[in-house]
Amino acid sequence: MSFTVAIIGRPNVGKSTLFNRLVGKRVAIVDDTPGVTRDRREGNANIADMNFTIIDTAGLENAHDDSLESRMRQQTETAFLEADVALLMIDARAGVTPIDQHFTQWLRRHNTPVILVANKCEGAAAQSGLLESYSLGLGEPVPLSAEHGQGLADLYNALRPYADAAEAEVAKVKSDAEFELEKLPDSGEEQDDDDIMKRPLQLAIVGRPNVGKSTMINKLLGEERMLTGPEAGITRDSISVPWIHGEREFNLIDTAGLRRRARVTGKIESLSGAETRRAIDYAQVVVLVLDAEDMLEKQDLTIA
Ligand code: GDP
Ligand code: MG
Repeated sequence: MSFTVAIIGRPNVGKSTLFNRLVGKRVAIVDDTPGVTRDRREGNANIADMNFTIIDTAGLENAHDDSLESRMRQQTETAFLEADVALLMIDARAGVTPIDQHFTQWLRRHNTPVILVANKCEGAAAQSGLLESYSLGLGEPVPLSAEHGQGLADLYNALRPYADAAEAEVAKVKSDAEFELEKLPDSGEEQDDDDIMKRPLQLAIVGRPNVGKSTMINKLLGEERMLTGPEAGITRDSISVPWIHGEREFNLIDTAGLRRRARVTGKIESLSGAETRRAIDYAQVVVLVLDAEDMLEKQDLTIA
């Protein structure tokens, strides 16, 4: 259970170097040539006792065909949508550049909080750039040397509130769940069991995007009824499919992947989120599917 941090900034400021240092493995490629980070990369980072997911972004590379601005927006947006907090990294030796200013403008239009990180701060050559970075209006910069591992204590302190918030959110979800359990009546009203057994059981399958909900239903049905694929969110609407097992009739309700509401952007996605919530309300039994390789993300608990 942790939070997610995106490292954002123009090429060559040291994003991948910081990523590698925090993840502790040489996962991202570091190079002097702008454009070596081809994809965004995710890793499990830690500073001392604090664990979080970190996303390294590609920056502005491969900007040949697209306009610089749209490319920048795309890259930043992808990482941003996943993140609880963004680190905007600048190269303090180079000072504040127009691209840094552009990033700042862009980040300001979104709700995700931003921490300004001034990298390459070892030595005196970074002093003026560090001071200049206040002009971005993002508050006090965290001076860092990703390459030399300096300034990590300050970064820790800057991230601490987000770690605390993530922990509080998890605790709240847990206590809400316990409260709901306490509210359940011990034995309930007398029910006509026979009558209930004759009607199809409404069984909803929910979970984060891409955990294998549609694949599971296909297996149950024994045919390729659902469209599955690696594309998250390929199932746009809830689909109800009748299924008979033994004597019992079911309606299997496949739902579009639940996303955290904060991540929902397009209209289609917010509609499928509403669809899913409706499916849960309507269902008698809900199956929550988890990815065993990536279990108990905060989002799983939120859905639970
Ligand atoms: P990215 O494009 O933002 O991912 O930048 P990289 O991590 O690939 O780093 C670009 C260059 O800056 C590489 O040559 C790094 O070795 C260098 N670099 C990274 N961090 C520091 C630092 O703290 N100090 C100095 N002097 N150089 C750094
Ligand atoms: Mg990089």
